[in-house]
Amino acid sequence: MSSPATLAAELAALEVEGLRRRRRVLQSPQRARVTVDGRDYVAFCSNDYLGLAAHPQLVEAASEGAQRYGVGAGASHLILGHSHAHHQLEAALARFVDLPAALYFSSGYMANLGLVTALAGRGDCIYADKLNHASLNDAALLSRADFRRYPHVDLGALERLLERATAKNKLIVSDAVFSMDGDVAPVRELLALAERYDAWLVLDDAHGFGVLGAHGRGVLEQQRVRSPRIAYMATLGKAAGVYGAFVAGERELVDTLVQRARTYIYTTATPALIAHALLTSLELIENGDERRKHLCALVRRVREGLGAGAWRLLPSDTAIQPLVIGGSIEALAASEKLAARGLLVPAIRPPTVPRGTARLRISLSADHTIEDVERLIDAVRSIEAGA
Ligand SMILES: *Cc1c(COP(=O)(O)O)cnc(C)c1O
Repeated sequence: MSSPATLAAELAALEVEGLRRRRRVLQSPQRARVTVDGRDYVAFCSNDYLGLAAHPQLVEAASEGAQRYGVGAGASHLILGHSHAHHQLEAALARFVDLPAALYFSSGYMANLGLVTALAGRGDCIYADKLNHASLNDAALLSRADFRRYPHVDLGALERLLERATAKNKLIVSDAVFSMDGDVAPVRELLALAERYDAWLVLDDAHGFGVLGAHGRGVLEQQRVRSPRIAYMATLGKAAGVYGAFVAGERELVDTLVQRARTYIYTTATPALIAHALLTSLELIENGDERRKHLCALVRRVREGLGAGAWRLLPSDTAIQPLVIGGSIEALAASEKLAARGLLVPAIRPPTVPRGTARLRISLSADHTIEDVERLIDAVRSIEAGA
């Protein structure tokens, strides 16, 4: 039973269900136009919403960072891996999101594990939206707190759970923008519940930071919300175009994470050159109104073009535009037909999304042109008509 032959049988079963994952090999930088396995495509696959991942100024800043700080951080933050660049970046991030303090983590996955396990443990209770990102669910399991999931954005169900709560320490945890659906969480209402029932509100703004709000400061700016109860987390490998993540909030929260967040403490610091590049990325985001405007125009065009077809375009105003097909095999076939026309759109299947809701996840970037989007709309419509 415990042999490679067992694994081979399990892999073969995934194949039959259209659930086996395969990696494509990207040979160019991450952009709207990419080279993959020797062929050129227009890709609608990245979370590089502002088109910064290969921006010349970021490339320049990364090499300047390498010249100044070398490559390896060589130690964890609490020993001697915390460089001037990390320190500057944390101050700049806190200022940018208008919160008292921020802590830089190596990735969003690690930030969520560190944050949730620092705030909740045995005897505490975590309330989580059913469609939250996997890293938040893993964090809740790792924390050993009671873990209750409520139906997607069902505030009534959440309130009923909170009414019955016996735990003294409670966390409400939610994606700010849901990563596979593109809808935005009702942050004000979540905060009202957190206040009424004396809970923390943990918000994961992986897909909102850099994009939402008048100046790209994220969901808190967009919804004009602030509160000392909020632990705000955002990633820096998506719209920011680099790598890493941060948690921002009250000074006491950040100081506590430095003491307790195991994914911060027990790992080597991210290379300082990354933090140095991120300082430039923040400037590009701040001066990114044109990019955000162009992105909004692309979103509107996709909604006009694909809103009325047989496949269901989910209600989303963000750069994530999911087209639900249903079956995994059908979604995969649609994705392959698009690829044959030079367009890459990933088929997202269970367990990433619920059964029966396999979908094409179209993600838009300021690096796309209106013509790229027109090409996608024409191709999707013709494949949909033949399906
Ligand atoms: C991508 C993502 C993460 C993980 O961030 P990484 O920096 O890629 O590890 C966490 N939460 C959400 C909602 C995400 O979309």
